[in-house]
Amino acid sequence: MTGIPGSAADLIYRFTCPVCGSSPLVDGSVREDMLNRGCYLCDSTVSEADFEAVRHD
Ligand SMILES: [Zn+2]
Repeated sequence: MTGIPGSAADLIYRFTCPVCGSSPLVDGSVREDMLNRGCYLCDSTVSEADFEAVRHD
C-alpha cells in the first residue's frame, strides 16, 4: 500500500444525524460538506460530534 496510514483525508466516518436518524458512512470531504451545508437528507445543522471516525483498510 502506498497510502499514508492515518491520513485524515482517507478516514471514513459514521455520521449519525440527530434529527432524521440516518447513519451513513461518509468520507472526509462529505463530512466537511455536511458541516458546512447540513445533513444531506434533512438539511439540519450538524456538528463534528455527530461524526465518529471508523477504521478501515
Ligand atoms: Zn438528517
